[in-house]
This record gives sequence, C-alpha cells and structure tokens, in this order.
Amino acid sequence: MSDRKPSPFPVLLTNDVCSLIEAAEDVYQIRFKNRAANAYLVRGTNRTIMIDVGLSSNYPALLECLCHLGCPPETIDMVILSHEHLDHIGAAWHFGGRTLIAAHRLAANKIMLRDDFSMLRKMFNEPPVPINVDFWLEEGNLIDLGNFRLHVMYTPGHTSACISLFDQDRGLLFAADTLMPGGVMGGVFGSGSIADYIQSLERLKGLNSRILLSGHGRLSDTPQDDVRIALQRSHALLSDTAQLFEALDARSNFEPIMQSVRDLNKLDDG
Ligand SMILES: [Zn+2]
Ligand SMILES: [Zn+2]
Repeated sequence: MSDRKPSPFPVLLTNDVCSLIEAAEDVYQIRFKNRAANAYLVRGTNRTIMIDVGLSSNYPALLECLCHLGCPPETIDMVILSHEHLDHIGAAWHFGGRTLIAAHRLAANKIMLRDDFSMLRKMFNEPPVPINVDFWLEEGNLIDLGNFRLHVMYTPGHTSACISLFDQDRGLLFAADTLMPGGVMGGVFGSGSIADYIQSLERLKGLNSRILLSGHGRLSDTPQDDVRIALQRSHALLSDTAQLFEALDARSNFEPIMQSVRDLNKLDDG
C-alpha cells in the first residue's frame, strides 16, 4: 500500500490546528486538523502566492506557519481561490487590501454576490464577512511567479467554478477538490455535474504531473495512479444512478428550495 510508505515530504512545523509540510522547494502545504481545506504557499522569485487559505477560524495558526517561513501576509501578492466553498476560502478576507484575491469568473460571481447556499456557509458556520475578488480568472491564464509558471485550467464538476493550477516544468498539480490522493472523489455539488467532472479528470490525466497538491488530505507523489482511480470511480458513479443521487445529496441540497416553493403554494391556497 502506498499509504504505508514513509512520506517523502518533510513536516516543518506542527501545532494544535495544523501542520506545515514542504511539498517541493519553495512550495508548502498547510494541512489543517479540522474540516478546513489545505492551504498552499508558493514562494516565487518575483511573486509569492497562496492557493486556498482554509477557514477563517484557523487564521491565527495559518499566520504562525506563514511567519515560520518568513512570508507574513503582507509579503503575499495574490491569494487564488480554487472554488467558492468556504472551507477553502473562509480566511481570505483577512488578506484583503494589499493582497489581490483571484478566482474563476463563476466562483468570483458567487462570492461577490454572497451566494451563501453555493458557498456552504451553513455547513461551515463561517462569519458572514464579505470576501472581495479582485481578479477573475479564466482557462488559459498564466500566473508567472518567476521560477514558477502556473497555468490556470478550468476543471468544473465538483462545482461549476473549479480551477486547477499546473506547473509544467516542475510537474506540480494543484487540483483542489477535483482530484485527491488515492482517487477520492470531491463530490458533486449543486452547480457541478458528474459528466463535467469526468471531462476535467480526463484533462488532468493528460498532464505529466509528478506531485498532486489537493484540497484535502496528504500530498501525493503518485498523481497518475490517483487520477486513474478517480476516473474509474467517476464512471462507476455515472453508470449507477442510485449512487449518483447519493453523491449529489439532492434531497438535503434542494430541500430548502423545495420547502420555499411549497410555502409559496400554501400562501396561494390561503
Ligand atoms: Zn469543495
Ligand atoms: Zn473541499
């Protein structure tokens, strides 16, 4: 089992809330011990960025990690949000001001309109603080940090607004909730689709990735295996409508909407 192998990624710091792990030279994973998604720091020669930042409540621990690396928030040029879910973006408002916040156009729209249903605010119980997105990203954008060149790939499926970032020279794949270690699926939420998810995984499969830096779980040095398993699972999910229904969790996602429609009908009756 690859899970039994000692991790090739050194742990630099660990506290009650998170661990700081070196994924590659000048690339760090901050892995939280609660439900927050992983945050990443990429320290370029010209620009330093973060990819996702986790929950707002974890910010003090995140700060400790950033300071440990000598990269306090005022040195971070841009925070890129992989998609609209608050477990990935909740702490972003702490960076507002000097640091630019970027997200895919569809995620930016949901975040700017404060679409709490899409952002899963209730699920994560995050403070209702606005997050302002300064840059709207699209497929094909390139983020040039000097020694890193991150290609923005539009990889919908988990939601309509997911992006992945890929550094071709170094084989670094930041895939958020689209691809996870061991081929674990990120689920298909309201605006997503399993068919889009499969197409996105097919695109990630075609990359010569060497390290997978996911939204949840450990770092993986077997991204080709991970994506192969994820594709098998997503095809199985597509062919089994019962499982698909469960993955969508349609009832709990749509119950609030269905209830308000029923309430409207009730009013009309009265
Ligand atoms: Zn998500
Ligand atoms: Zn997530």
